[in-house]
Amino acid sequence: MQNQLFLKELTREAARRRTFAIISHPDAGKTTLTEKLLLFGGAIAMAGAIKAKKAGRHATSDWMAIERERGISVTSSVMNFEFNGHAVNLLDTPGHQDFSEDTYRVLTAADSALMVIDSAKGVETQTKKLMDVCRLRDTPIITFINKLDREGRSPLELLDDIEQSLGIEAAPLSWPIGMGKGFQGVYDLRQARLRFFEAADKGARPREGVIVQGLDDPALDELLGDAGAAGLRHDVELLDGAGYPFSMERYLTGKQTPVFFGSAINNFGVRELLEAVVDLAPGPRPRAAAPREISPLEEEFTGLVFKVQANMDAAHRDRVAFVRICSGRFNRGMKLRHHRLGKDIKASNAILFMAQERSGVEEAWPGDIIGIPNHGTLNVGDSLSTGEPLKFLGIPHFAPEHFRRVLLKNPFKAKQLDKGLTQLSEEGAIQFFRPLNGGGMLLGAVGALQFEVIAQRLASEYDVDVDLVGTKFNAARWLFAESKEALDKLVHEESDALATDAGGHRVMLFTSDWMMERTVERWKSIRFEATRECA
Ligand code: GDP
Repeated sequence: MQNQLFLKELTREAARRRTFAIISHPDAGKTTLTEKLLLFGGAIAMAGAIKAKKAGRHATSDWMAIERERGISVTSSVMNFEFNGHAVNLLDTPGHQDFSEDTYRVLTAADSALMVIDSAKGVETQTKKLMDVCRLRDTPIITFINKLDREGRSPLELLDDIEQSLGIEAAPLSWPIGMGKGFQGVYDLRQARLRFFEAADKGARPREGVIVQGLDDPALDELLGDAGAAGLRHDVELLDGAGYPFSMERYLTGKQTPVFFGSAINNFGVRELLEAVVDLAPGPRPRAAAPREISPLEEEFTGLVFKVQANMDAAHRDRVAFVRICSGRFNRGMKLRHHRLGKDIKASNAILFMAQERSGVEEAWPGDIIGIPNHGTLNVGDSLSTGEPLKFLGIPHFAPEHFRRVLLKNPFKAKQLDKGLTQLSEEGAIQFFRPLNGGGMLLGAVGALQFEVIAQRLASEYDVDVDLVGTKFNAARWLFAESKEALDKLVHEESDALATDAGGHRVMLFTSDWMMERTVERWKSIRFEATRECA
C-alpha cells in the first residue's frame, strides 16, 4: 500500500518537472531572458539581480575577470523555481563556442532546450553549433525570437532562416504585429489572444492579453487599426499556406521547433514563453545506461554527474558535483552507491540550486538537479544509485583540438600544479596528457579559451604560476584495438606522438588532418576514436 502511494507520488512529481537548458549565440539576450523567466517564476524579486550577482562574483575571483573582460559567460549554472504548478529547472549554458563541451554536458542533463535568437541577426554561428549539439540527442527545442522592439528582419524571413540554416521546421505559435518603433504586440496563435506591447521603461506592467474570437473578429480592426489588422490577417494567411502547422510529435523528436516572438528586456512575450515551456516541453524521459535503460519512474534512486565545479564558493573550498536525478526520489542523508569506485557515499549536505542561493535539499525528484559537495570522489560521467550497478551513457570526453605544454615557473610548486590540474581536469574543461617519451605535461582543450581560464584559475585558486606554450599538435584520438600486438607495434613506431590521458588511456596526437588520415589508413586494425565515455 505504502509502495503504491510512493509510486503515485513519484509519477506525479516526475510529470510536473520541466528541466531545460537555455542556449544562444552571445548577445542574443540569454541572460536578460533568464532573469525575466526567474522573475515570472517568482524566483527573484527584482529585475537586475543577475547582473548584480555577476558583478559580485567578479570581485571574489580572478577567473571571473575573463568573463568581464570578454563579456562572455564562462560557467553554467542551474536554477530551480515553481511556475503554474510545475517545478522548473533552468540550466544556463556558456555562450562562447570554446565552451561547447560544457554546453554539451549541460544539454545531456536537460530534457529540452530554449533557443534565443536576435531578430536583427537571425541564426548566428554559435546558434548553428549549438543546434548540432542538440541534434546529437534529438533534443526538443523551443525558439524565442528576441528584441522585437528593435528594427529586425521580417518574421517570415527569420522562420526561413531557421529552416535553412538549422535544418529544422519552424512552426510559429505567436506572431508579431509590426516591429521596432511600430511594434504593437503579438498575436497568440495557440489561444487567439492579442497581447499589446508596452515598453518596460514606461513603468507599467504588461497589460493582460485581449481575447479575440479568431482573426475575423471585428474587434481586431478596432484594436490594431485597419492597416495593422489587415497586415496580421495577411501574414497568417501566408503562414497557413507556407508554414508548418505545429506538431507535438515532430517537436518532441527534434524535427520541428515552435517559435515565439517577444522582447526580453521589456518583459514582453516571456510569460507566454514560460507557459508554453511548461505546457509543451517534455518531462523526464528514460535514459540510456548499461546494462539497461532507466525509466524515471523506477523506485530506486539513480543520478548522473554531468558537471563538476571546483571552488564555487571561496569560503568553502569544496567541489560541487551537479547531479541530474534520473529516477526515484532523493532524500537528504541517503546512502548512494558510487558505481565507478564501487563504494557508498553519504549525501547529507546535498544542495538544491535556488535562483539566488544554494539551499539544503530534503527531497528531490526525477528531472531535478542537486549539488553534492565532495573532495574529488565525484567526476563528470559518474553514476550513483541506491540499486543495482549501472553506468549512464552519453557523457563523453571530446578529442581536444588545441594543445599546450605546461611550464611551471616555480619548480617547488610541482605538487600544487599536479593537484590543480587533476582537479580542474575532473571538471571536464581540459584534459591532460603525459607523453610516452616524457618531456612535460600537455594540456588539451576543445576551445583555446579554456587555457586562459585554467592559467588564471591555477594562479588564483592553487597559487601556481604557469606558462602555457603552444605545441605542434592540433588533433588527438583515443586508441582502441582488439589485438595487443597491433597496438604494441604502433606504440613502438610512433612513440613520439603517443601519450596517456588522466584515466590512463592511450591517445595519439597529430600535427595535421592529413597526418591523421594517413595514420588511420595505415593502421586498419586500430580504432581511432574522437570521443571517449567519461569515467
Ligand atoms: P546574452 O549574451 O545572450 O546573455 O545577452 P544579454 O542578455 O546580456 O543581452 C545582450 C544585450 O542585448 C544587452 O545589452 C541587453 O540589454 C540587450 N537586450 C536583451 N534583450 C533585449 C530586447 O528585448 N530588446 C533590446 N532592444 N535589447 C535587448
